[in-house]
Amino acid sequence: MSNRTFTMIKPDAVRAGNIGNILQMINAAGFKIIAMKYTKLSTEKAGQFYEVHKERPFYGELTEFMSSGPIVAAILEKDNAVADFRKLIGATNPAQAEEGTIRKKYAASIGENAVHGSDSDENAKIEGDFFFSGLERF
Ligand code: GDP
Repeated sequence: MSNRTFTMIKPDAVRAGNIGNILQMINAAGFKIIAMKYTKLSTEKAGQFYEVHKERPFYGELTEFMSSGPIVAAILEKDNAVADFRKLIGATNPAQAEEGTIRKKYAASIGENAVHGSDSDENAKIEGDFFFSGLERF
């Protein structure tokens, strides 16, 4: 069990003005921010980040969407971070997300679902390393 996870506030949530609301929920749930940046992915970078989904039918749509506007990327720390953060964000499809989850509140569809959360300790490390150098973590 690791105590770190990686998140992005996706372009739809940034466009809707929900950065503050989402960070508030993340803080209220007890996550500490270790690293954070406001940035924008190129289509190519989004493609690299989501490489594992390359063969999925929605890969093109996903990389297009994720490069459609700025995002907030962050590394978060808490006991049991990966599992607890997945619980906080809710199901991939907001229609199936539980009440009180970030996706239930702020996501519009299975594709444009407001936030990313790593699905394993291993991926949390890979994804954090994708965005942040050692000098950017505190
Ligand atoms: P997550 O771990 O809950 O983010 O879900 P997945 O790893 O299964 O998928 C990664 C991301 O791909 C999701 O968060 C969505 O943004 C997107 N995605 C998943 N399924 C679909 C789909 O059926 N259609 C579209 N357009 N995007 C999808």
